[in-house]
Amino acid sequence: MTTSSNPYRLARHVIPSSYRIFLTPDLESATFAGRVEIDVVVTQSTSQVTLHALDLVVGAATLSSQSVTYRSSEPTYNEQYNTATFAFDEEIPEGEATLEIAFTGVLNDLLVGFYRSTFIDAEGQNHVIATTQFEHSDARRAFPCWDEPSFKATWQINLTVPTHLAAYSNSPETSSTDLGNGWRTVTFSPTMIMSSYLVAFVVGPFEETAPVEVDGVAMRVIYPRGKGHLAAMAEEAGAFALHFFSEYFDIPYPGDKLDQVAIPDFSFGAMENLGLVTYRESALLIDPETSSLLERQRVAEVICHETAHMWFGDLVTMEWWEGIWLNEAFATFMATLCADSYKPEWKMWVDFGIDRDAALQIDGLHSTRPIEYEVISPDDTRGMFDILTYQKGGSVLRMLEQYLGETVFRDGIRRYLKKHAYGNTVTTDLWDSLEEASGQPVREMMNTWILQGGHPLVTLSEGHLTQQPFAYGEATSESAIGSQWLVPVLTRSLQGGSTERNLLGAQPIEITTASPVVVNAGGSGVYRTRYGHDELVSLSTHIEELEELERATLVADSWAGLLAGHITWEAFLTTARGLGQQNEPNPWGTVASAVALAHRALEGTQHDTLVAQVKELFAPQFTRLGWDAQPGEGELTPQLRANLISTLGVIANDEAIQAEAVRRFETNELDGDLARSILRVVAHQNRPGDYEIFLERYRSATTPQDELRYLYAISDFPDLKIARDIIKRCFEEFRVQDAPMILGLLTANSAVGTDVWRMLADRWDEALASFPPSLMVRLTVGIPTFIKDPTLADAVEVFHHTHTLGGDQRTVEQYLERMRVGLAFAAALREQF
Ligand SMILES: [Zn+2]
Repeated sequence: MTTSSNPYRLARHVIPSSYRIFLTPDLESATFAGRVEIDVVVTQSTSQVTLHALDLVVGAATLSSQSVTYRSSEPTYNEQYNTATFAFDEEIPEGEATLEIAFTGVLNDLLVGFYRSTFIDAEGQNHVIATTQFEHSDARRAFPCWDEPSFKATWQINLTVPTHLAAYSNSPETSSTDLGNGWRTVTFSPTMIMSSYLVAFVVGPFEETAPVEVDGVAMRVIYPRGKGHLAAMAEEAGAFALHFFSEYFDIPYPGDKLDQVAIPDFSFGAMENLGLVTYRESALLIDPETSSLLERQRVAEVICHETAHMWFGDLVTMEWWEGIWLNEAFATFMATLCADSYKPEWKMWVDFGIDRDAALQIDGLHSTRPIEYEVISPDDTRGMFDILTYQKGGSVLRMLEQYLGETVFRDGIRRYLKKHAYGNTVTTDLWDSLEEASGQPVREMMNTWILQGGHPLVTLSEGHLTQQPFAYGEATSESAIGSQWLVPVLTRSLQGGSTERNLLGAQPIEITTASPVVVNAGGSGVYRTRYGHDELVSLSTHIEELEELERATLVADSWAGLLAGHITWEAFLTTARGLGQQNEPNPWGTVASAVALAHRALEGTQHDTLVAQVKELFAPQFTRLGWDAQPGEGELTPQLRANLISTLGVIANDEAIQAEAVRRFETNELDGDLARSILRVVAHQNRPGDYEIFLERYRSATTPQDELRYLYAISDFPDLKIARDIIKRCFEEFRVQDAPMILGLLTANSAVGTDVWRMLADRWDEALASFPPSLMVRLTVGIPTFIKDPTLADAVEVFHHTHTLGGDQRTVEQYLERMRVGLAFAAALREQF
């Protein structure tokens, strides 16, 4: 569809170049009043101007052109396209003009547009914040504007606020004028030319760290009053990322300053507003002493992700929303690159392998989608913010980087950003730059990964590499899985020598390297691998010689093969036993997930057999590692320890582990890395009074991580009465940003999940009215665990086909298909026990 034929896109006969926005938010009454002056260029004379406005009361416009002032009638609105149209009595001539519009609005509670957030400080006092979230199409809720990424302009913001509140926007404050009535007007300098979805402002009782200077740029962390003691890690990681990216891209930071702001109510992880990045509190504020490594990694990763966007996204922006995948995939890839450089000992690329595998678990379903697809309405855009965009997209870029070489890839990126700075691009612009830098057929190769869904199964058998599409089962209707890819396959021999670069297409490739041969050398390929009999025999006695990510990939591929019915449970166990005494949380995590799903699938005494196998695999590891960290064991080992504790304590009902978990819970000795597992084991025992203690500790938590830890852990109690109480609190007490996820986790609870699903189905309309539309999909995350009861599965399917979720329905369909895959797996597994 061309720009001009898409009814959701604005005409281009009037083009904005700069905005001056004046806003007066009243936090007490949750309203705001505003005025906007927009310098425009009329490229074709017209008597009508249409721009975006949503949930605003907008007055008539005036337009000054060549010393004549034109007045419009009251605007007419189009609800479907979110537009306001101003009609003028006369034709406005071509040339420069200034449009002026006054408006009022409401600070909503939907976590989009200009919205309200609240928090209670350490003294128990309630505070209100006004903040913004405009991506993808919600700037139109705060002021009338051309709310499309390709209408780039400069933005000058003026906020009139109570004098006791702080106010921030994308660029530095230039003046603050006391109005003498308890209010002041804060003026910010004009931004660089950028898209409307990146504009931001925040007003409230905030405090800030002293600016850190990074290559001449002032960086601060801003937080709700009283939380400064949690800002140190964000300061350090933020400064690291800022410097890292100016070097990697070879372009100075494009903004004038960089503030990282923690917001108490926030729907996603963070938002890359140029110069004023907003975060969910748990993604920015952290206590390094009491947090887990996973939580620290998450903070570092989110900060690196958002900082990468300052260039990739903010400086160079997609032309229209179908390009959002590249924006997010790239930031996901760059976040890992940056965090890996920040803390090499965290082995972030091995961790990234877990994310890739999670994406492939969706991508192996017939209801997957191509990474890029045509986007017409803003609602279509919402469906693009999913695991296939972030994790599969990021993995495809990592595969490409490893194939082209890290320096060549980086040079291509630099070329792309320099060529398109301050502009808009389509996906192929990036491939062109990478082709120029590498001389490789990047566009042809990437088209097979981006424009079709699914991924291949690469087989090395009888000395030849071949490919076929990977799928968990037969397609029952149309399949989005493609047929053939141009696969960059890296191979190496365990006997040494260099890594070979193969580009596998339709024709088999002969591999002449000495055996044993590792396919997917380095472990960055976005495909599943299968070995022929001889190749597998040769490799199987050398599993300990693989690199860590190669080993993790082998276990993940084996688990995928089991789910797809290619191999037996016994064959999977053999691979798992090959892990021996490796202290690697990633592959062991895969084994634990497999065991947990198997436990749901089995019946009666079959559980005893499984428990015996679990003990045989996991208990020796736990005996070796013990409860407490040993000197020199490294930062990652506690993750494995945590995994062993929850698997042995919950699935195997290990009494000694259960007793020690209770002891540590009662004395509140919850080491950050083990806390989540200890709480899981305690909740599993469902002792009277513990749920109330979880709630109490959630309410009195002093860090965002501690708060979330208890909030998520309440979903583990195997008790219907507790589940009912949690549901009630999700509708009445918990923050809207958290409640949908807790409900989703509750549906994945193996004891009460299906009952919870029924209760939520009964209250679906109430949920729709209570939670933001973009968060509703979280209520459905437990569906893939409903693998035992075909009748229930039918009911679940019927319900979600008649209660669809717009742009997120595709994700729901994937969960439903995943449930069917699980049912087939469960039936097959019961035959094997
Ligand atoms: Zn992002």
